[in-house]
Amino acid sequence: MPEFQRPRGTRDFGPGEMAKRRFVESNMRETASTFGFGEVMTPTFESTDLFIARSGEDIVNEMYAFEDKGGRNIALRPELTASVMRFYVNEMQSLPKPVKLFYYGNMFRYERPQAGRYREFFQFGAELIGAPSIEADAEVIALALASLKNIGLEEIVVRIGNLTILKSVFDRTDLTEKAKKECRRLIDKDDMDGLSKIMPEKALNELMMLFSSPEKSYEILNNYEGGIYLLKLIKKLEAYGFDNCTIDYKVARGLDYYTGMVFEIDAPSLGAEKQICGGGAYKLADLFGGQEVNSTGYAFGFDRIMLALENSDVKISGKKLDAYILPIGDNPNIKTDAIKILMQLRDAGISADMDLMGRNMKKAMKYANNIGAEKVIIIGENELAEESVTVRDMTSGEQELISTSEIIQYISK
Ligand code: AMP
Repeated sequence: MPEFQRPRGTRDFGPGEMAKRRFVESNMRETASTFGFGEVMTPTFESTDLFIARSGEDIVNEMYAFEDKGGRNIALRPELTASVMRFYVNEMQSLPKPVKLFYYGNMFRYERPQAGRYREFFQFGAELIGAPSIEADAEVIALALASLKNIGLEEIVVRIGNLTILKSVFDRTDLTEKAKKECRRLIDKDDMDGLSKIMPEKALNELMMLFSSPEKSYEILNNYEGGIYLLKLIKKLEAYGFDNCTIDYKVARGLDYYTGMVFEIDAPSLGAEKQICGGGAYKLADLFGGQEVNSTGYAFGFDRIMLALENSDVKISGKKLDAYILPIGDNPNIKTDAIKILMQLRDAGISADMDLMGRNMKKAMKYANNIGAEKVIIIGENELAEESVTVRDMTSGEQELISTSEIIQYISK
């Protein structure tokens, strides 16, 4: 029995899994760059107060928060918007607007682990700061959708809501602020029974009508400032080439700092934990002591995106080994030649490995097959004499004698 297990809610990723994750990660980076967003990185831990300022006191129960040896209250980041906005307030306020940033990193939340829910997980997110326009909201949602499209995840549901609509319904009731907050939480959790117990009947009926058929309610959207906004936003996203966005007023997002547009993206194949992205328009800089500024952002649940890709037809294969070199016999010249060829291949960007165990031909072939080598390069006495190598294609089983000087060209084709 091994003595140590990894902590609850964390995962180890092997080379195959990491190759896939890195592929998706760099694909997302490229998409963000083509949209003119630049990458930022902030510390893994921040002062606990930063996250309290963003999310309220209750967040402490959900964080890895502790006192460090200097008596400071520190928390491992549960999300990155707060850190990015702190960074913006500290160092980027004077930059020309908009400031377009993206990030990737690990987050920590002390919650009950289950499928698609971990204590350490990864987010890829973006923030567009300083453009209070519908164009900015569209650009941010378009980046999220383009990122998913470019990695081949097409089976998604995009739901866009507007908190000003919910708020205008709430404001016509005599509910207390605390009760309104609770209503938003219930709507976010899709708990309509709970909602019906608190919400006055007239407002409840209005909400139900909006929730059940947002399309039919288009004609009444004129009554709501935010309603027209959503219709225009959806048109803009169509101009970007995304016609799969739906209006859903149930998108309530728990946090108070969201100002209007909010959106979520689901991957239905994931079941209960199907939400792969959450975001919206918000104001946060002023809460952190900066000048008030409109921002729009989102965070992808990177791990859930990986799970959704596993469930989809898109198969991202972890990169295989291009060539495995097998020197045969004890002749030191053979071993020297093998190393030279190995490094020629590596220098040319071809992934190559060499037998380090002194395996015989049969065992070496089995091993090469196991690690997914595409070709095995055999160098024995005959090959040495002819300044050639024997290359075996591991898929077809065919072998060819190739001149050493042509090996790179041959393997690259
Ligand atoms: P949030 O920051 O809570 O809006 O979350 C943004 C996205 O991160 C969600 O849509 C999920 O996909 C993902 N996410 C949140 N919490 C976890 C978790 N504990 N484990 C894995 N993914 C998570």
